[in-house]
Amino acid sequence: MQACPLCCGDALSLWHQDARREYWRCAVCELVSVPPAFHLDAVQEKALYDQHENDPADAGYRKFLNRLAQPLLARLPAACEGLDFGCGPGPALAQLLEEVGHSVALYDKFYWPDETVLLRRYDFVTATELVEHLADPRATWQLFHDLLEPGGWLGIMTKRVRDQAAFSRWHYIHDPTHVSFYSDATFHWIAQRWGFVCTLADADVVLLQKAL
Ligand SMILES: [Zn+2]
Repeated sequence: MQACPLCCGDALSLWHQDARREYWRCAVCELVSVPPAFHLDAVQEKALYDQHENDPADAGYRKFLNRLAQPLLARLPAACEGLDFGCGPGPALAQLLEEVGHSVALYDKFYWPDETVLLRRYDFVTATELVEHLADPRATWQLFHDLLEPGGWLGIMTKRVRDQAAFSRWHYIHDPTHVSFYSDATFHWIAQRWGFVCTLADADVVLLQKAL
C-alpha cells in the first residue's frame, strides 16, 4: 500500500475508479490522489501542456485569472514582490499583477526552469491550476511555505472535491495530468500543518497567509 503523497500517512482507501485510473482518498488530510503507476512521464505531460493556449491578451482568460488576482490584490500592500509558480508558457497572471505595481518572478518546471528564483523569499506566491498536477504535493507545499516571508500570501487556484458522487461525474478527473485533488478539509489540513491562515475565497480559489 502506498503512502499519502501529502501527509505521508497510510490511511488511503480506494475512492473511485474509471476506465483508465484509480483514485485513492486519505482519511487524514482528505487528499484524493492517483497512484504513481498511472502518472504520465514528463515528456507526455509537457506534450499535453503545449496544447494549452493561455494568451495574456485574451479577455476570457484574464477574467478567469481575476478570480484569483482580485481577492489577492485586496490583501496586498503596494509594490510587493511575488513569484508565479507554474506560470506556464504565457505569464498572463504575472502581467496582470505587474499592471498594478507589483513585481513578479516566474518559475515553471517546463517553460521557465530557472531555479535561482526559488532561493529567496517573496511577499506572495501564486499557483494557478498547478497543485492538481503535483505528483509529490508534500514537497511543493513545503517549498511554498519556505518561499514566503512571514505574513506573506499564497494564492491557489484549483477546483475542489465535493463528495464521492460528484467526483465520479467530474470532468476535472479526466485530464490525465491531474493527479492530486483537494477538498475544503485538505486545505484546512494544509493550513494547520504549515501554519497558514486559510480563506476559501471562491469555488476554486484559496488564499493562505503564512504566520507572522
Ligand atoms: Zn493524507
